[in-house]
Amino acid sequence: MGYNAPSMARKTLITARDLERRPALPLPADALLTPLARDLLRKRGLWPPPVRAGGRGCGAPRLVVANWKSHKTIPEALAFARGLREELASRRPRAGAVVCPPATALANLRGPLRGVAELGAQDVSAHDEGAHTGELAARHLVDAGARYVLVGHSERRAAGEDDARCRAKVRAALRGGLTPILCVGETAGERDAGRTEHVVAGQLEAVFAGLDLARATRVVLAYEPRWAIGTGRVPQGEDVAAVLAHARAVLARAFPPDAVERVPVLYGGSVNERNAARLLALPGCSGALVGGASLDPARFAQILASA
Ligand code: PEP
Repeated sequence: MGYNAPSMARKTLITARDLERRPALPLPADALLTPLARDLLRKRGLWPPPVRAGGRGCGAPRLVVANWKSHKTIPEALAFARGLREELASRRPRAGAVVCPPATALANLRGPLRGVAELGAQDVSAHDEGAHTGELAARHLVDAGARYVLVGHSERRAAGEDDARCRAKVRAALRGGLTPILCVGETAGERDAGRTEHVVAGQLEAVFAGLDLARATRVVLAYEPRWAIGTGRVPQGEDVAAVLAHARAVLARAFPPDAVERVPVLYGGSVNERNAARLLALPGCSGALVGGASLDPARFAQILASA
């Protein structure tokens, strides 16, 4: 099955006025609600809609992913691995752990993290090989022990990575045997303009257009509002749940709903050991992508234990 990118123009826009005029108005699967419409539904106890997918006991695997960004040398990474192993000896996490260190530490962490966490890279070349000085192709990352790779992280988007590049990188990752973790999310300005769902749908459509079902269901999604990354600011739980449901609804326009249920959708943005349990219990949330709080093995282990 191929994916026909739906145009934004075909979505059904529902305003608060529509809901006031017709209180029992059925919401189509592609409904795009204005912020006022959502507030009204919230008051009526109808928002966010009930979502089964991705929660505990549902189809999608649960994952907690550590993104170390440009932190830790190889000796520091090895100390973390020892610490995490000790922390997890007395805990039984319900989610799989993935650690994305700087690429220089991947190969060294393979043995020390075996049985504790999978490895992921923070970026991948869009090319399989060739004259691309400085780029690491999927085969290099797999060679060093990675099974996952982040694509479209907001810090890379801020450095100029656009949707077309994310699309090419997701395909390169899949070709090379890596599981891409595709990051999507809005800026503060886009959120304030009520454009979150529009932005997230556009980012998803750009990457998933043309992917067949087998490849599409190998992608992990991470909703990361860009204004929440590294700021200590976390959106309201109901707003997170609404975007997670929206992301799945976008995919469900092109792929069978039961397949979409098995796609993990993570939340990322200032997750820490104090807010993890609440965020990870949100409807539709399959886990977390964690930056700052993942640098310390005790904090990361606590987040894992909350999943
Ligand atoms: C991230 O780097 O993807 C991230 C979510 O960072 P932090 O947890 O520090 O906000």
